[in-house]
Amino acid sequence: MKRTTTIALIAHDGKKAEMVAFVKDHFDILQPLHLVATGTTGMYIQQTGLKVTRKLSGPKGGDAQIAAMAAEGKVDAIIFFRDPLGQHPHEPDIQMLMRICDVHNVPLATNPASGKLILSGFENK
Ligand code: PGA
Repeated sequence: MKRTTTIALIAHDGKKAEMVAFVKDHFDILQPLHLVATGTTGMYIQQTGLKVTRKLSGPKGGDAQIAAMAAEGKVDAIIFFRDPLGQHPHEPDIQMLMRICDVHNVPLATNPASGKLILSGFENK
């Protein structure tokens, strides 16, 4: 049996407001899908009324948990709004997540424009 399409959502602190706006804009596409998110991002997403499975916070290993899902074929796309102007203690995990996406050919969007294009591929699926 095919599992429900799973989308992972992650946003750095400087991008969380953009993520909330993004999920509100794409509520109807996201609502039937299985959503996972890093801890704090997930908390904000839940406040929009979407159901989301929350992993650890990014700096505590949440990005690594989502990378592991990607490596195991358990995630269909990752939308990761990175803050290119910020410094992140978990930079090695961020690089690892992006590398795993490339190793396993998992669609990865790092800004709202590419996120929109990726989600359009899941519309009415
Ligand atoms: P957060 O993690 O959603 O727990 O803030 C995101 C990140 O910084 O990678």
